[in-house]
Amino acid sequence: MSDQPTTTLLILGASGDLTSRLLLPGLGTLLAVEPERRVRVVGADRSELSTDTWHDKIRTAMAGAGVPDDRVDRLLTTAQYVRADLLEPAQLAELVVQVEAPLVVYFALPPQITVKVCALLETMDLPEGTRLALEKPFGHDSASAAELNEQLVRVVPEERIHRVDHFLAVHTVLNLIGVRFANRILLPVWSADHIEQVEIVYDEDLALEGRAGYYDHAGALRDMIQSHLLQILALFAMETPATLDSVEVQALKAQALRATELWDDDPVRASRRGRYTAGRLGEREIQDYVAEEGVDPDRGTETLAQLVVEVRNARWSGVPFVLRSGKAMGDQEKRIVVTFRQPAHIPTGMTDCPQPDRLVLELKPGAVTLDLSVNAEGDPFALEQKTLRAELGKARMLPYGEVLGGIFDGDPLLSIRGDVAEECWRIVEPALHAWAEGKVPLEDYPAGSLGPDGWGPSPED
Ligand code: NDP
Repeated sequence: MSDQPTTTLLILGASGDLTSRLLLPGLGTLLAVEPERRVRVVGADRSELSTDTWHDKIRTAMAGAGVPDDRVDRLLTTAQYVRADLLEPAQLAELVVQVEAPLVVYFALPPQITVKVCALLETMDLPEGTRLALEKPFGHDSASAAELNEQLVRVVPEERIHRVDHFLAVHTVLNLIGVRFANRILLPVWSADHIEQVEIVYDEDLALEGRAGYYDHAGALRDMIQSHLLQILALFAMETPATLDSVEVQALKAQALRATELWDDDPVRASRRGRYTAGRLGEREIQDYVAEEGVDPDRGTETLAQLVVEVRNARWSGVPFVLRSGKAMGDQEKRIVVTFRQPAHIPTGMTDCPQPDRLVLELKPGAVTLDLSVNAEGDPFALEQKTLRAELGKARMLPYGEVLGGIFDGDPLLSIRGDVAEECWRIVEPALHAWAEGKVPLEDYPAGSLGPDGWGPSPED
C-alpha cells in the first residue's frame, strides 16, 4: 500500500455534524487497521477555521479510533482547510484546481446544496479519475432521484459515484452474506417454501435529540425504511452471488428490489404510521414530539413507520417482509427475525403445539439465535422451545471506515447504484402518497412504549 499514490479526500461541508461525528472517526478506524494507507484530508466549508482548529477537529474526532498518535501526526502534516462558499463558482473552481488525483470529493453538505454544487462541478475540469461520494437522501422521490442521477453522470461516470448507506458497511448487516451463503443448513430453506415471514426491525430508544431541522422533514419512513431497511431486505432476499464482486452483488440486489412491491398493492393496509407523545425512556422524561423545538405539527411527521412488502419472484412470492423503524421506543429491537413454516406433520402422540422455528439476526450488538423445538424437560413426548445463541465478534472498524476504504479503492460493493436509489423510492411512494392524502391514520404512542396498540407484524392483523 505504501507504493500507492496518496488519495485526496476533499470533504465539502467539513464543519458539519457528519464530518466530525461519523466521517473523521471512521477514517481514524480505517487508518488504525491500515496505517500504510496514504490519504490527504482537505476540508472545505464556509465557516472560518484556522489550520490549527481544523487539525484539532481531526485529532478530537479520531481520539478513541485506535489510530496511533504518530499516524495522526503524519495525516496532519498534509491536512488542509479551505474556507469557501461552495456555491460561488470562483471559490469552488479555486478549490478544485488545488487538489490532485486520485481525488474523492465527499459531499457532507445539505442535499439541496449538494445538487447545486454538482451543477457547478459539471462546468469544471476535475482531476482524472475523480470519484464522488454522496450521502442520503438521494432525491426526495423517484423522479428527483432520477434527475440527480442524470446530473451526477454529467460530472463523472456511474462507476465513480458512491452513494453511501453506511448500514451496508455494518458488520452485523454484512453477516447476512456469511450466514446465508456459507451454511449448508440454511441455503436450501431460504425461500417461501420454508419461510413464513421476515421482519426487519430497527427501533431506537433515541427521541428527536435536537434534530428537528432534518428529521421533521424526513420522518421514519424516509429516514430509515426507504434507505437502510430496504438495503437490508435486498441483501436478505437477493439470489446467490458467485463472488463478492460489486458488479454481481449490485445487480442481484437491484433484481430483488425491482421485484419488491407493497403487500397486495394496497398502501393503506400495507403501511402504518405513528408519532410519539410524552413519556419516559429509562430515567429520561421525553416531551411530546410536537412540543419539540423546530417541529411543525402540521407536517404530520411520523416517528414510527411500518411497511409490509412482498418480493414478487419465484423464491419469495407470498412471504410478507415487515419493515419497521421507530424513535423513542421502549424496546430497542434491532434485528431480522425469520419465522419458518411449521413442519408438514408432527408425530401423532407428541403433546403441546410447538412454536415455529425462528432465526434471529441481532444487528446491535451482533448475535445469531436459533429457536428450535426440542423434547421437553420431564416429558420426552412433549415439546418446548430452546434457543441456540452465538455472539458475533467485534467489527474491525467503524462502518464509515469500511465505506471510505471502498471508495478509496474504487470498489462500489458497499455503495448504492443509481437505479437502486430510484427503485427504493418507487417502492415506498404509494405509501407516502396515501399518507399525504390522509388515508392512513397517524397513531399516537407514548415515548418508551412498544408503539401504538394493536400493531401486528402480519398483513392480516
Ligand atoms: P450539517 O448542516 O451539520 O453540515 C453541513 C455543512 O455544510 C455545514 O457546516 C454548512 O455550513 C456547510 N455548508 C452549507 N452550505 C454551504 C456552502 N454554500 N458552502 C460551504 N459550506 C456550506 O449537515 P450534516 O453534517 O448533518 O449532514 C451532511 C449530509 O450528510 C446531509 O446530506 C445529510 O443528509 C447526510 N447525513 C448526515 C448524517 C448525520 O448524522 N449528520 C447521517 C447520515 C447522512 P453552515 O453551518 O454555515 O450552514
